[in-house]
Amino acid sequence: MKPVDPNCIFCRIIAGELPAAKVYETEEVLAFMDINPIEKGHVLVIPKPHHATLMVTPAGLLGEVAVAVRCVAEALMDCGADGVNILQSNHAAAGQEVWHLHFHVIPRYDGASSRSWASGNAAYESDAERAEFAGRIRRSVAAVVGDGSR
Ligand code: 5GP
Ligand code: ZN
Repeated sequence: MKPVDPNCIFCRIIAGELPAAKVYETEEVLAFMDINPIEKGHVLVIPKPHHATLMVTPAGLLGEVAVAVRCVAEALMDCGADGVNILQSNHAAAGQEVWHLHFHVIPRYDGASSRSWASGNAAYESDAERAEFAGRIRRSVAAVVGDGSR
């Protein structure tokens, strides 16, 4: 099988051109071990069709990926994790390095460091500023949800 995008590492893994330690596979979804884990047991879940980010991925496919993420998270708990983080990055500003949608499913263990990011890094100047952000986002969400193309 030829990779959908020959320049994409994950498409090449799907096509069998590059090796990966696979843990779950369906027609539309693949889960495999991250080569550079945040924690032992770190799994990546991807759709087989190539979509660069969450925002451009069709809803039906996203549903299948979400169910696979849940299955892997359950399996990690069965394998001894005490908790699980789901991490997903879009665009360079968010740290995305591979431009094929992927969800990080990261097992966490009691006593180990559990937060790789911190709440409270940013603060609103006032309640009015928070309300202003909320208003803008609420209007945009309404527009996105109202757009039947998704
Ligand atoms: P991002 O920063 O884009 O959210 O995450 C990309 C992830 O892909 C990183 O955690 C990185 O370790 C993983 N990764 C990059 N190249 C490969 C590869 O060739 N094989 C596997 N299994 N994981 C990879
Ligand atoms: Zn790809």
